[in-house]
Amino acid sequence: MSMAPAPWAKAQQRAKCLAAAALWLLVACGSIAFLFFYATTPTRWHQVRATELIAWRNTLILPYTFTNGTTGRTTPLLSGGISFLLIWQWCGTLAVALGAAGLVWIASSNQVFSARSGNKNNKQRTAGYYLRQAATRTRRVLAYRVPPRGLWRALLGPGGLSLLDLLLILLWVGLHIMWMHEMTMRVLDNRRANPPPPKVTLRPPPPVGVKTATTAAPPPINVSRPPPQVATRHLLRAAAAAPPPAGAAPPPKVNATATPKPPPPRVVKPLPVVVQDNVAKYFGWVGRLDILALYFPVPRCNFLHWLLDSDFPTLIKYHRWLGYGTILVNSLHGIIYMSIWARDGILTRMLDWGMTAGVNRLSGLISMCGGWMLLLGALPVVRRRCFNLFYASHILGAVVFMLFAFMHRKDVATWVMPGVFLYLLDVVLRTIQQNFNSTVVTASPDCTSAASRANLSPDNGMLTLSLRCHEGMSWVGSDIVFLNVPAVSWWQWHPFTVASSSEAVGPSGEKRMVLHIKKYDRWTQRLILRLSNDASPVRMYVSGPYANANRKWIAGADRHVFIAGGIGVTPALGMLQELIVHRKKAQAAAANGSSLDEGSRATLVWVSRDRGEFTALPYEVLEASRGKGAWLDVQLYFTGDSSSPSKTVASGEAAAAADKPTKGDDAEAKAAISLTVSAAGAVSPASIADNRPLSHPYMFHPLLWAVAVVLCFGGGFLGLICAQAYDAYTARTVAARRDFSYVGMLQFSALGVGAVLPPALLMFAVHSWRLLSLCRKALSAQPSFNRGESDTPNPTADMAVAATLSGYSTVSESSGSANGAEPAKAFKADIGFAHAIKDGRPNWAELLGAVATCSSDGGQLPVWDNDAAQEQAQVVGVFVAGPERLVAAVDEECALLNGVWGRAGRAYLSVTALTHEL
Ligand SMILES: Cc1cc2nc3c(=O)[nH]c(=O)nc-3n(C[C@H](O)[C@H](O)[C@H](O)COP(=O)(O)OP(=O)(O)OC[C@H]3O[C@@H](n4cnc5c(N)ncnc54)[C@H](O)[C@@H]3O)c2cc1C
Repeated sequence: MSMAPAPWAKAQQRAKCLAAAALWLLVACGSIAFLFFYATTPTRWHQVRATELIAWRNTLILPYTFTNGTTGRTTPLLSGGISFLLIWQWCGTLAVALGAAGLVWIASSNQVFSARSGNKNNKQRTAGYYLRQAATRTRRVLAYRVPPRGLWRALLGPGGLSLLDLLLILLWVGLHIMWMHEMTMRVLDNRRANPPPPKVTLRPPPPVGVKTATTAAPPPINVSRPPPQVATRHLLRAAAAAPPPAGAAPPPKVNATATPKPPPPRVVKPLPVVVQDNVAKYFGWVGRLDILALYFPVPRCNFLHWLLDSDFPTLIKYHRWLGYGTILVNSLHGIIYMSIWARDGILTRMLDWGMTAGVNRLSGLISMCGGWMLLLGALPVVRRRCFNLFYASHILGAVVFMLFAFMHRKDVATWVMPGVFLYLLDVVLRTIQQNFNSTVVTASPDCTSAASRANLSPDNGMLTLSLRCHEGMSWVGSDIVFLNVPAVSWWQWHPFTVASSSEAVGPSGEKRMVLHIKKYDRWTQRLILRLSNDASPVRMYVSGPYANANRKWIAGADRHVFIAGGIGVTPALGMLQELIVHRKKAQAAAANGSSLDEGSRATLVWVSRDRGEFTALPYEVLEASRGKGAWLDVQLYFTGDSSSPSKTVASGEAAAAADKPTKGDDAEAKAAISLTVSAAGAVSPASIADNRPLSHPYMFHPLLWAVAVVLCFGGGFLGLICAQAYDAYTARTVAARRDFSYVGMLQFSALGVGAVLPPALLMFAVHSWRLLSLCRKALSAQPSFNRGESDTPNPTADMAVAATLSGYSTVSESSGSANGAEPAKAFKADIGFAHAIKDGRPNWAELLGAVATCSSDGGQLPVWDNDAAQEQAQVVGVFVAGPERLVAAVDEECALLNGVWGRAGRAYLSVTALTHEL
């Protein structure tokens, strides 16, 4: 590619900076508006300028007139209240989403490593430097694990409770206390402004000439400034007295001669009852705000991930916590009301389905039951042990909860939609993508009609998938994909991390996505059984890849330590592949005379109970740890039973023990099975669809996603207008309404369909167009298809196999010659990194202490033993993935070593954890 001329490149850079600043401004405005009104709408703040606010909101009303009106009422299509919600909630969210998509678009032109390359050596003491220092300190303090850490880990998982988590929980609790206080005070203010009439007591009339206390001194009246509630009443009275707007129906004529009826006596409830009623009512009011926040962290691809450098496994934790809070608040709303009604003996009457007061209380109760179903199904004990039960109950519970909440009160829908829209959009985009993004996999080395390959470890404990991808697909090692195999289960989708980099192209010129799948329970067992017993290809649907926050982590840290337990190594391998690719680029740049930071040294510590898993170590990783220019320190720990033959690999016995058609006596075939082989099958005319590589990304381009968001919100708005039109029409034509539940149902379906259909059509068109163009390209590149020629071997693919095997040149020899040898030793001799395998667990305190102090203790970490390296490497990125206990142990050691924001003379250990359990 030719380089852009310098002035043009400068102008381009300046334009990018300006665009990024404008987009950040849009994000800031949208989020400030959203958060400000989110926090203050339930407070009395609105009454400070109530007159202006009501007047302004009234200007937002969309007038609606219907000539057949029979009740004489005028109803707006969108009231001022709804318009106000649309402005701060819907438009605020849309602004942030569009701004974030624009920022991703700008950032997508930069490389993963650009951030580190730019900043590393910038040590000038400028204002920017101090700002960056302050930001770093703040981030570290927020990541501080709050004591008692053991308790929090037992309650919340291996990550425990960070200071940020604690602050967010306190913010949530504080907001709710403030809202309830404000709303109760509103009631009390109202009561003070409208005191109940004094009790009438029958007393004898006072003697004539004696002044009574009441007649003697009238109370002083403060005329300077009426209280806000009085101002509101004045305004409403003035609005009632004002002439009707043009086109409105004339008010009914009043017969002047008729004697006016006396107003009904005012019923005044005792104050404690009023407060009780309002507490019950306002828990429901506040519950709507909780539902609004609940959906934002759920989408797998989310603008919050882009803005906060976060990812799905991290944010789903906040969804869980918000879920518990939401169910609690809404349950309090229902339970307090029901206890009041039970006390007054009107419970059954109040739970009548056809209430006319605008509230369907029975559907509120059903919604609450849906919420409890969600809560019980999501308890860790159910989620972890019976994931499918959790999944089914979550979908059913969410539908019941939302549908009946909409039917409970018709204003719930407008309050909660923005988060729901983003979630629906995510579901639509991934449903369409995953239906297009499929590949055909086989474990048989003889089968050439499949695009992708599966390799089983000799003891069948691990499956390695090497999925062929279109050159346009891009991901970062450790991104997440979800797999579905209809032959195993048509509805289950299971998450896996990608163990390869999309920038690494194999010798055959192909891009491959590598996944390592450990045999765990039903789904993984059935998949492995299917691939090992049946040589015919199996279709696999892929959803994603979804971005992981690790891309920032890889670029941000000065040094890297990867700690993995068992199959937790897959994300670590993915990130190592990114580092390898970056080094290769730097070396190529150096050869061309330009300079690029090569990146620092790294350590991989892998603990496994199964020696077979160690075969997942790719050749490139081993190569990086060997020889003079080694920059990677690989430490392997075997914690299983060395005497168990089933836990050994690459021995002749183990290979023969598994009775599979793919395993013959042929030594080469065995080697192919036990290693990650990048072989591509030749394309046959009959299987052009099967040979299609993965090529349909979740989100083609950030700007396309932005268009889909606009369509989603626009469609949702049209759905809202439809529901409102029905409601407004009925309000004007039916005197006594009993159809509020139907309005809720209509809102549920109209808003849902409106939000889903337009982006679905857009993405369907884009995916279909891509599929067609790929098929056209494949046909034109393979003229032999049309001539009906037989399969021809692919020489480039064969080269790929040879290149990979040559890295493990001893495998094929020794796997056949290990007869009678002690299995563990045989394995060590085979793979060639046997010297690196230690028995037992590592000492985390010692290992991480050495990392933090940059010592060369025991020769384990020889790469950080000089002061210059320590000075340079202030942040050590520690990535830990695997079983909860391992993650918790490493997290605890790092917390101890770091203190609150790092200790003098030690590197700061920046921990990122993944447990493979959502
Ligand atoms: C972000 C992430 C990345 C992962 N990466 C890998 C990987 O690279 N290699 C690997 O072998 N395993 C990985 N896993 C774990 C893998 O998803 C499970 O081992 C697999 O789904 C188990 O399915 P099963 O039917 O055999 O067992 P099940 O009994 O169905 O599930 C066992 C456990 O896996 C989890 N699980 C199952 N299905 C899902 C799902 N749809 N979504 C989230 N969690 C689920 C649940 O916690 C469940 O308790 C990852 C998990 C997560 C959450």
